[in-house]
Amino acid sequence: MQQICILGSTGSIGMNTLSVLDANTDDYQVIALTANKNSQRLYEQCIRYKPRYAVMKDVDQAVHLGEMLKNYKIEVLAGDEALETVAALPEVDTVMCAIVGAAGLASTLSAARAGKKVLLANKEALVMSGALFMDEIRSSGASLLPIDSEHNAIFQCIPNTHSDSLIQGQCSITELGIEKILLTGSGGPFRQTSLNQLSSMTPEQACAHPNWSMGQKISVDSATMMNKGMEYIEARWLFSATAEQIEIVVHPQSVIHSMVRYKDGSVLAQLGLPDMRTPIAHALAYPDRIVSNVKGVDFTQLSALTFERPDEQRFPCLRIAREALEVGGSASTVLNAANEIAVDAFLSNQLKFTDISSVIDTTMSKMTNTVVDSIELILEADSWARREATQALLRFQS
Ligand code: NDP
Repeated sequence: MQQICILGSTGSIGMNTLSVLDANTDDYQVIALTANKNSQRLYEQCIRYKPRYAVMKDVDQAVHLGEMLKNYKIEVLAGDEALETVAALPEVDTVMCAIVGAAGLASTLSAARAGKKVLLANKEALVMSGALFMDEIRSSGASLLPIDSEHNAIFQCIPNTHSDSLIQGQCSITELGIEKILLTGSGGPFRQTSLNQLSSMTPEQACAHPNWSMGQKISVDSATMMNKGMEYIEARWLFSATAEQIEIVVHPQSVIHSMVRYKDGSVLAQLGLPDMRTPIAHALAYPDRIVSNVKGVDFTQLSALTFERPDEQRFPCLRIAREALEVGGSASTVLNAANEIAVDAFLSNQLKFTDISSVIDTTMSKMTNTVVDSIELILEADSWARREATQALLRFQS
């Protein structure tokens, strides 16, 4: 029986994780569930899954949840430290890291330091702290399994003989004879929108992804393709890959979730319907397989699988992510923070869609790049970038 903590259980990934557990009740026990403000949804999850701990980031909502759960043997905790505590509980084997954004960094690092099986959905944590995060995995003996469907697909395409050392951060794709990672992406809802209409796209339009149902922030990141840019950086750390070894390919149908090309010319791909329960089930059960309740692909119903080069003029965030990876140091921490500020402003109708990249570009142009080899320096770079991006917003705000 695997004992699980789900950080961000009330979100899209959190709920998909619980849905996979529903299909495999004999194999998993929920020890801790967490949320930010959604005490009603966390209450319903607590009644159903009976965790030992429930954590709300928001203190007032934690008090409210505590009142609702007063007749249950569930300890209700509040705040950031409590998130770190439940991620490192001795009785927890596996931590699903599914808090959105930089807010998930500390608890994700806590799970890594405690040597857990870390299921990483919170890509922002790795984008912010790449080298440091991988060092924590290596030194604690944790294992890091990717939940992003693309990285999970890549992981499924590497030889079984090396998968254990890869998830412990101990081997690189070059050692495996892999020449290229082909990171696929759908191109999001605006792949074909005319360029002169892009600036008037609304949050509702940006969040209406053609293939995936996801939280708001990642939906906007998919519309700007910053999501793919962050995945490019994520792939560099997860697979010890160089920038030249990663190629982004637009694949609008989202059936192939990514591919690897070996040096003998063979290309291996992982296919499936666009449903996050598949990578979640894969990572939960690794190295075994469990049911996810996702249907198989019906190849007779697929009209075509098509591929395009990404258009960096339409999607400047791809260029920004590529440059951040080249520059290294604090650049991807700054990129992530500026993106979070810009996406928040767009979601609250204070910024045009096309100015998301302008705010990030402006912030990055002011950066004096530094080495970030401690969590303190990463948080310093993050705070600096948030201040600068907030200033930059004033120039672009609509
Ligand atoms: P959601 O917005 O749906 O859920 C986010 C979760 O994090 C919720 O439980 C939310 O609580 C909690 N949360 C938000 N802010 C804070 C905070 N400040 N402190 C503590 N908890 C917080 O996001 P998704 O599930 O879509 O995404 C989660 C992560 O997974 C992201 O990093 C995303 O990039 C990644 N991912 C998501 C995919 C998807 O299909 N959704 C696919 C691949 C990766 P509350 O409900 O109370 O707000």
